[in-house]
Amino acid sequence: MAKQVVTRTYTASIRNQSRVSDDLDSLGFAASKLWNVGRWTISCVWDEIDYIPEHDELTAYLKSHERYDDLHSQSSQRVLQELAEAFHGWYGKRRNGDTRANPPGYRKHGDEHPRSTVTFKAAGFKLDTQYNRVRLSKGSNLKEYWSDFILCEYQIRPDVDLSTVENVQQVRAVWTGDEWELHFVCKVEIEVSESPGEKTVGVDLGINNFAALAYEDGHSELYPLNCLKQDDYYFSKRISQCNDSDSEQATRLNQKKSRRRTHYFHTLSKHIVQRCVEEGVGTIVVGDLSGIREDEENGEAKNWGKNGNLDLHSWAFDRFTDLLEYKAEMEGITVEQVSERDTSKSCSCCGRERKANRVERGLYVCDECGTVANADVNGAENIRQKVSPSPATDGGDRSNGWLAQPSVYLFDLESGCFAPREQATS
Ligand SMILES: [Zn+2]
Repeated sequence: MAKQVVTRTYTASIRNQSRVSDDLDSLGFAASKLWNVGRWTISCVWDEIDYIPEHDELTAYLKSHERYDDLHSQSSQRVLQELAEAFHGWYGKRRNGDTRANPPGYRKHGDEHPRSTVTFKAAGFKLDTQYNRVRLSKGSNLKEYWSDFILCEYQIRPDVDLSTVENVQQVRAVWTGDEWELHFVCKVEIEVSESPGEKTVGVDLGINNFAALAYEDGHSELYPLNCLKQDDYYFSKRISQCNDSDSEQATRLNQKKSRRRTHYFHTLSKHIVQRCVEEGVGTIVVGDLSGIREDEENGEAKNWGKNGNLDLHSWAFDRFTDLLEYKAEMEGITVEQVSERDTSKSCSCCGRERKANRVERGLYVCDECGTVANADVNGAENIRQKVSPSPATDGGDRSNGWLAQPSVYLFDLESGCFAPREQATS
């Protein structure tokens, strides 16, 4: 076993809720107001010069605004940072061709402001683990006297001891809809397994095969999405048969659909990590999808949502990558994200890159060296080679047949597990 420091968030309830809720409300409302001021500022800049300011530019600009002093300066900074992140996220999606994505909105319901999350960084809170209390700072506008602060008595899960964590980096006050709760963001040292080996595997995430894996020693696996598509089709049909899309029945069906999808992602990430342990893999290389995912042939973004019956947004891939990272970490396996650029149009054997590669029925055919590969496996192998150049490209006589003959793992909805399908002879 080895030790590794990771970030964890622990939720705690507030025991003196009635005493602190008014104060927390004021901070939550203040965070919404500052968000709206920032939101308005960004749209002005955007209209004027077609540019989305970075959070530090936004902070520099709004520092002298009256609303900035309602919260502790670090808390105000965090509100503007979240806003800038939300804007850049939306802009990224827009560039990806996601026309349904909306820019972040104003935080207002009529004349009411919702209670936004308030984040306290190092200088904005003081933790007393002996008495389970935390002191949260207000901004100068909301202080009644100079040392005015909010003293919360918290109750955390019995197995969490905040005095033993490496350090508590942030405290967040979060409104659950009924009451306030606290989230402690901590650095924690955990025991992880020794890395299972030195080998690498490339993972290409996509819409037909949710994941294609190319292992360094020359074999490949596919995880098709068809089971999830069937599942989605079934639920979409039942939901559309409901009289009212807001009805209790429709809500229940939607929840069930989303639970099953979450289960699929958990099971798949766990299964892939397990396969990596078996294969002695120490590094999983994943294509980074957070950037521009353009269809390199015509410069247009792929539209994930319109494929078949599956309504799969790019956030699903991010979520899956997070799960994979988390589960791999526990096994001592690193997940590296690399740019996906050119990984679908280059030949993973000879490296030849062409503007219009031949992809027919999911097969990649190279004019130069004659390699025939499963297109997704070819992509996965290119992704893997970004971290570890392969002996396959050294001009040696290693067989490339494995690129065209992946093992296919199917999700069994009955058992909830992945099992290999009998190899198809083609
Ligand atoms: Zn080639």
